[in-house]
Amino acid sequence: MTSSYDVIVGGGSIAGLTFAGEAARRGLEVLVLEEDAQIGEPEKCDGLVSLRELRRYMAPSAHCIQSYVRRGIIHSPSGETASLDATKLEVVVLDRSEYDRQLMERAESWGAKVKRGSRISDVTEKGGAVRVVADSTYEAKYYVDATGPSAAMIHGRKNLIPAAKYEVEGDWFNDGDVEVFLDQEKYPGFFAWVIPRGDGVAKVGAAGRGINSFRALDSFLSDKKQNIVRRVAAPIYVGGGISEFVSGRKIYVGESAGQVKPTTAGGITTSAAAGVIAARWVSNSLNLGDPSVLKRYQTDWEERFGREFRLMARIRRVLEGLTNRELDSMVAQLGSDRVRKKLASSDFDYHASSLLSALGVAGVLRMARVLVSAEARELIASLAQ
Ligand SMILES: Cc1cc2nc3c(=O)[nH]c(=O)nc-3n(C[C@H](O)[C@H](O)[C@H](O)COP(=O)(O)OP(=O)(O)OC[C@H]3O[C@@H](n4cnc5c(N)ncnc54)[C@H](O)[C@@H]3O)c2cc1C
Repeated sequence: MTSSYDVIVGGGSIAGLTFAGEAARRGLEVLVLEEDAQIGEPEKCDGLVSLRELRRYMAPSAHCIQSYVRRGIIHSPSGETASLDATKLEVVVLDRSEYDRQLMERAESWGAKVKRGSRISDVTEKGGAVRVVADSTYEAKYYVDATGPSAAMIHGRKNLIPAAKYEVEGDWFNDGDVEVFLDQEKYPGFFAWVIPRGDGVAKVGAAGRGINSFRALDSFLSDKKQNIVRRVAAPIYVGGGISEFVSGRKIYVGESAGQVKPTTAGGITTSAAAGVIAARWVSNSLNLGDPSVLKRYQTDWEERFGREFRLMARIRRVLEGLTNRELDSMVAQLGSDRVRKKLASSDFDYHASSLLSALGVAGVLRMARVLVSAEARELIASLAQ
């Protein structure tokens, strides 16, 4: 027998569970199918997030917060550093597994069903309904694809960068200091990072185009005293939003829709926002019996994040084209007193706009002058417009 729902959600993580909770709260019958046996496990994400923004979707309980970030330290390839004060930004390191479990509990308390260990193998549309094949066959009026990078892989999207992440015990990092290491040769198009959890353990990772990210991470750690507690391999997506968030009765939400920052690949808050916005329009569509209102989901999401994502995508193109010498000079500019002061009261989630406003037109143009590549020069000058 086929069970029927208003909406079936593929993927029980930040986007799927935020959607499910919000849709159930609006009275819809919702089933979430998650392939993993436990929600939140295995934990891939490092959980660096703006608490201010996250509270808009679900405030994390105190024991979800592993650490408060006090400083961001950017290391240039030659070893120069820019140290940015983060004390006013309310950025925290989240226990993502625990946060996802709390999202699930909230969604269930509002009436959503969550089924674990159920991998979706096929989704087809027929006669005004969607047929979803997993551990059983299900039917629904809509299917919400919140399967994250799996969807990006299935749809053959580019811009997935392989990342390696370890959790390490060590004494060479400081709680509250998040560090980023730029080096175009070691981590082309991305970086290595250190995010202390506040208990003597740090989440340490490396990613880059065309590299063996585990080898890069091992090399990064080779001169540091450490004990590896956990190893994770996961792709990160930096390609920006896909062109259509809705296709017939399928709705893409979160990383599967590319709603992940093209600069840092951070996607917790933007995916949660998508879950809430999509639930509003799926619910309206079902109440009105009008699938055409679903397009408001994309309009609303883009109204909120579209400009920032386009800016971030441009910044990514610039960064990918920079040489190590150019990265050195960029880090020197970021470390100047004037820029640091402005960034100290900026917005973590809108960091592209914050960065450009901190640099100012003159700063962006000054940066463009030191660039060797004509394309990067043109692009960075265009950011000042
Ligand atoms: C190494 C790493 C570090 C990161 N660090 C940060 C960070 O510090 N801050 C930040 O903001 N973002 C970070 N991100 C990004 C962030 O994790 C994602 O943007 C966010 O989790 C996207 O949420 P989502 O719900 O769209 O997808 P996901 O979290 O990827 O969830 C997709 C879910 O779908 C399930 N699924 C997949 N296929 C199927 C199927 N066929 N059937 C059923 N279930 C399926 C998966 O098991 C998973 O639970 C990081 C990502 C990585 C890889």
